[in-house]
Amino acid sequence: MMTNSENVLFGAFRNSMRNEDAAFLHLADGTAITYGGMLTRSAQYANALLALGVQPGDRVASQVDKSVDALFLYLGCLRAGAAFLPLNVGYTDKEVAYFVGDAEPHVVVCRPDRVEAVRQIAGDCGIRHVETLQAGGGTLVEKANGASGEVDDVRRGGDDLAGILYTSGTTGRSKGAMVTHDNLLSNALALKEAWRFSEGDVLLHALPIFHTHGLFVATNTILLAGGSMIFMEKFDVDGVISALPRATSMMGVPTFYTRLLASEKFTRELVAHIRVFISGSAPLSATTHREFQERTGHAILERYGMTETNMITSNPYDGARRAGTVGLPLPGVSVRIADPDTGELKAAGEVGVIELKGPNVFKGYWRMPEKTASEFRDDGYFITGDLGLIDDEGYFRIVGREKDLIITGGFNVYPAEVEGAIDEIEGVAECAVIGVPHPDFGEGVTAVVVRSGGDRPCANDLRRALDGELAKFKVPKEYHFLDELPRNKMGKIQKNELRERFAGTFKKG
Ligand code: AMP
Repeated sequence: MMTNSENVLFGAFRNSMRNEDAAFLHLADGTAITYGGMLTRSAQYANALLALGVQPGDRVASQVDKSVDALFLYLGCLRAGAAFLPLNVGYTDKEVAYFVGDAEPHVVVCRPDRVEAVRQIAGDCGIRHVETLQAGGGTLVEKANGASGEVDDVRRGGDDLAGILYTSGTTGRSKGAMVTHDNLLSNALALKEAWRFSEGDVLLHALPIFHTHGLFVATNTILLAGGSMIFMEKFDVDGVISALPRATSMMGVPTFYTRLLASEKFTRELVAHIRVFISGSAPLSATTHREFQERTGHAILERYGMTETNMITSNPYDGARRAGTVGLPLPGVSVRIADPDTGELKAAGEVGVIELKGPNVFKGYWRMPEKTASEFRDDGYFITGDLGLIDDEGYFRIVGREKDLIITGGFNVYPAEVEGAIDEIEGVAECAVIGVPHPDFGEGVTAVVVRSGGDRPCANDLRRALDGELAKFKVPKEYHFLDELPRNKMGKIQKNELRERFAGTFKKG
């Protein structure tokens, strides 16, 4: 594909820009940064990095709070020919030490208050350059302030790395997914078309930018469309509600939408002008989809992707956006369902592992050639580890991660199906279904339920409601009630944590 041009991804952003005076970012204080400003500021960051000796292909790690400067650091990395390596601010020193030791970045950028600890970590790995960055200050910000606002973008071909994103890896070592310029460009082009983004769009951006969703899906798509973003440092319901009147579109994780629905200020009138609400990174329950539509008249457009592959499927812009499904393969992406063990293809309606091939699929895991090889089939399809099926209308449905599959008494139980049934019961706000050790069945199906308020339904109410709805072996044998489910910043329920916490549910005695 688009290989030998000067700097594939940033070159495409530059070519999509129509007008340097057009807004790129709208900030909380009412000011805007134009596309011209974006060019200047990203060049300053590129120059600051080049002055630190960054060479093409070098990694630049960054563990900083979301800010305009953090976004320009990403763009500066691209222009300097580096691979951007964003890290969740929640990572501990031990975790950061692992990432830094594994990726060997040329520069590590951190919050000013973390500089001592990060300097120690970097020093242990023989890394000399530790810089700081936060909104409005830090050593790298100062270096950028003093640098030229023009730069010759470093040449990078389509196959060169644009970023390394470590997977959240709840089991085993976290892996660095190597994403190339072509991966990102092909995907952003597909999304821009699929979701009809144009220069008139104002995207409400309240996602973190250490993750593929806020960093690549949102930002790259807007840059290719020549649109703008209301750039919020974090998601908070009132802030989003006051910004929505100025937005045309919003991307979020499901919890954004459930939290908005919990506010009475989130009304049909408030969002009547919005063009599209998009959800991904975790399953959007059919109940939330329906409630959202009832409240606002908008059908949330749900899509599916992962760090390694960028976006894979999406509900259609025109045409039915079906609740509980993740839609159809994006153009250029070939998706199939296979037997996890044998790789044999499954027929429509049968559950198997989701596999795909396309220009969006990453180059492999950083310094893990064997792990990379084991996650691809011989014919080049990447094995996602998500279990799903293709329904009678060709839409994909995800039934859970392979590792979350519950095997009870020899039967497979797909958590999503049971969760969907429990979500429908009155008084249930949300739930997670897990398998925990059971002396007779191997694993026992267990539900962790959050009520919408009050103390009903109780376990017996739930049992009664599910009777006849689900085959007996799928019905949870035990129920636990919590005030909220443990989630990470991307809204993903931490099932590992629940499995640990409730491991003793069926212990004898
Ligand atoms: P990440 O690499 O952090 O983006 O996580 C990717 C994983 O998130 C996928 O492999 C899925 O398990 C899950 N995921 C992403 N989008 C969806 C969705 N729309 N519905 C259900 N699961 C999703």
